[in-house]
Amino acid sequence: LSAHRAVDVVGLDADDTLWHCEDGFNRAIDEFVEVLAPSSALGDAEHIREALDRTERLNLPLFGYGVKAFTIAMIEAAAMISDDRLTARMVDQVVDIGKRLFAEPVVLIDGVAEVVARLAPDYRLVMITKGDLLHQERKISESGLARHFDAIEVISEKDPATYRRVLHELRIDPAGFVMVGNSVRSDVLPVLSIGARAVHVPYEVVWAHEVAVHDGSVPELASIRELPAWLRDGDAR
Ligand SMILES: [Mg+2]
Repeated sequence: LSAHRAVDVVGLDADDTLWHCEDGFNRAIDEFVEVLAPSSALGDAEHIREALDRTERLNLPLFGYGVKAFTIAMIEAAAMISDDRLTARMVDQVVDIGKRLFAEPVVLIDGVAEVVARLAPDYRLVMITKGDLLHQERKISESGLARHFDAIEVISEKDPATYRRVLHELRIDPAGFVMVGNSVRSDVLPVLSIGARAVHVPYEVVWAHEVAVHDGSVPELASIRELPAWLRDGDAR
């Protein structure tokens, strides 16, 4: 364990921590099932979902995260599922699902606007998010939150090396840094491994790929509304 001091820099994940994201993907998957079900050689909706999830997972090292990678995975899974019966019209419908997901308005999670505005005068705030650069930039700008952040980092993978590099570049001491996010796999474990602290704020839906467990010692907040009090009174001292 590294020696901690009072937190002066708060890292915030964006998707499913500051604004809703995964629920949009889930709606898109439902639409995908609707388009594919009639011509599926795979049978029921559950098999279609599994095929899409598997394709997305296998593509992660190549295409990374975000709607673009998800759209390619939908097309690839559709080709596989429909057993050579994929029509141009179906490809169109699938691509449209992806385009609509890109265009969805940003909806902040309850309490975020107040909490971010409240923390900004007292802490250095850094947004650390992964996904499509263009899409994340649009969401950041649309969120109205950017002015409260000292730095915004869109990265391709949330692993220990990337966190270490980002903190180094921003001259942040891990001993005074806490990362706040909804994903144990992306926002908690790699951050703990570089000697910083993490707070888990679970979202209502967890993407299968992000499921991971910690040893129970990580602080978990039911809502981001609890963050200012945790920073003031909790382990953050
Ligand atoms: Mg997230």
